[in-house]
Amino acid sequence: MGGRDATMVLLDENGIRCDGRKVNEPRRIMIKAGGLKNADGSAYIEFGDNKILVGVFGPRDVHPKHMSNTDTGILRVRYHMEPFSVGERKNPAPSRREIEISKVIKEALEPAVMLDKFPRTAVDVFIEVLQADGGTRCAALSAASVALADAGIPMRDMVAACAAGKVADTIVLDVNNEEDQAGQADMPIGYMPNLEKITLLQLDGVLTPEEYTKCVQVGVDGCKIVYDIQKKALQDKYFGNGGD
Ligand code: UDP
Repeated sequence: MGGRDATMVLLDENGIRCDGRKVNEPRRIMIKAGGLKNADGSAYIEFGDNKILVGVFGPRDVHPKHMSNTDTGILRVRYHMEPFSVGERKNPAPSRREIEISKVIKEALEPAVMLDKFPRTAVDVFIEVLQADGGTRCAALSAASVALADAGIPMRDMVAACAAGKVADTIVLDVNNEEDQAGQADMPIGYMPNLEKITLLQLDGVLTPEEYTKCVQVGVDGCKIVYDIQKKALQDKYFGNGGD
C-alpha cells in the first residue's frame, strides 16, 4: 500500500474503478487446461493482464530421497517470475517474495490434494509468471488447481482464488496493480467452493472488523466466479473442442 500516484482517481462518483470496472466486477479471466506435452498436467491463465503458465509433474520419485515421506506424498511448488514479466526488470535470482508465494500456494493446495493416496512420491508444481499485473498469487493458485486436475491427481475439490480489497474507502473485488499500490488493503483468498473451506487468506493493509468480514464475503464470491471458469476449462479439454 503506498499512494504511488496521488492524482489517480481510484473510484469515480459513479462507482467506476480506474480500469473501468464496477466494484464487484473481476477482470477478464481465461483459463486453458493442458498445452504442455512434456508435463503430466498443465494450465494457462490470463487474469486481466496477468499471464501465467503452470506445469505439474508426478506423482513421481522424490529426489533427494530423504525428503520423501513413507506415510504420504509431498507437494512441492515453485512460483517463478520471469525477469521480463514486470515493467522494471526483475532480478532473475529467487526473491524472498517468490519463496513466500511458493510457500503460501503450496499450503493453499495441500488440503485439496489427496497426497495420502501416493506415499513416498512427490507432485511438483512449476509456476511461470510471464506477465504480472497484481494478483499473480491468486491467478497462479487457480491455474495450479486446474493443472493438478489435468494431471489426474485425485483431489477433494479445486482451489479457486481471487483477491478483494479496500480502495477509496470501498470494498472491491479483484484488486489490480494500481489499486494494490495506491489502495488501502489487499486480501488474496483461496477457497474450495464444494467444501466451503478457505485455504489461503492474507491481508496487506488495515481493515475494521466489519470491513474484514465484507472483504472475505466479496473475495469468496469472486472465487466462485473463478471456479466456474476453472470447471469450464476442464470441460472444454475433456468433453469439448478445447483438447490438445
Ligand atoms: N511486482 C513487480 N516487481 C516485482 C514483484 C512484483 O512489479 O519484483 C508487481 C507485479 O505486478 C505483482 C504486483 O507487484 O503482480 C503485486 O505483487 P504482490 O507481492 O502483491 O503479489 P501479487 O499481487 O502478484 O500476488
